Amino acid sequence: MPDSNHPGRLLVLASGNAGKLKELSSMLMPLGWTVRSQGDWQLSEAVEDGLSFVENALIKARHAARCTGLQALGDDSGLVVDALGGMPGIYSSRYAGADADDKANNQKLLHALGAVPESERTAHFYCAMVFVRHAEDPAPLISTGKWPGKIMTRPRGEGGFGYDPLFWVPGSGCTSAELPADIKNRLSHRGQALSALATQMKDEFRN
Ligand code: IMP
Repeated sequence: MPDSNHPGRLLVLASGNAGKLKELSSMLMPLGWTVRSQGDWQLSEAVEDGLSFVENALIKARHAARCTGLQALGDDSGLVVDALGGMPGIYSSRYAGADADDKANNQKLLHALGAVPESERTAHFYCAMVFVRHAEDPAPLISTGKWPGKIMTRPRGEGGFGYDPLFWVPGSGCTSAELPADIKNRLSHRGQALSALATQMKDEFRN
C-alpha cells in the first residue's frame, strides 16, 4: 500500500528476487517510497533482447510499468571479463545454457579462461538501474555501478551467489564469496548503482 504521507510514491520492482526487494526497500523507504515486487502481479516475462545492461534494465522497467500502470524500477547486472571481450556480460545467468546453475557457469568461465595469466584475468561486475515514471517515459533516471576485480583459477568461499567464488576483490584480499554480506552490499556494483539512483530520486522527488 502507498505510504499515507506520500500516496504517489509507490513503485514496482521489475524482479521477483526477494533479496533485491529487501535491499531496495531499505534504501528507498526512508525517502517515503513503498516498493512492491512484480511478483505481486501475474506479469508475463519481458523480452530482454537488448545488447547492454542498460537496455535490458530499461526493457524490464518499461514492461513492469506497462503491465501495472505504476512507476517502475528495473535492473540488470552481470560479470564482464576483459580477456573474453566482455563475456559473459548480459548472458551471465545463462552463460552455460538456458537452465545453467551457478556451478556450471563458473566451470565454463574457468574453462574459457584456461591458462590466461593472472595479470590478464581482469574483470568487473556491472549493474544498471533504471526508474521510469510510466511505460513511455522519455527521460528515465539511469544509474550504473562497476566493481573491478580479477578471476581466480579455482573457486574460493561459500557466501554470495553466481560468480562470487571466482571474483577476487583486490582491495579486500579475498573473493566476493568471502566478504560479509553487508560489506559486499556496500562495495558492489549493485550497491553503487542503488545509492546513485537513490540520490537521483531524492533530487527528483524533493517534496
Ligand atoms: P541479475 O541480472 O542481477 O539477476 O544477475 C544476472 C547474473 O549475473 C546472475 O545470475 C549472476 O550470475 C551474475 N551476477 C550479478 N551480480 C552478481 C554478484 O553480485 N555476484 C555474483 N554474480 C553476480
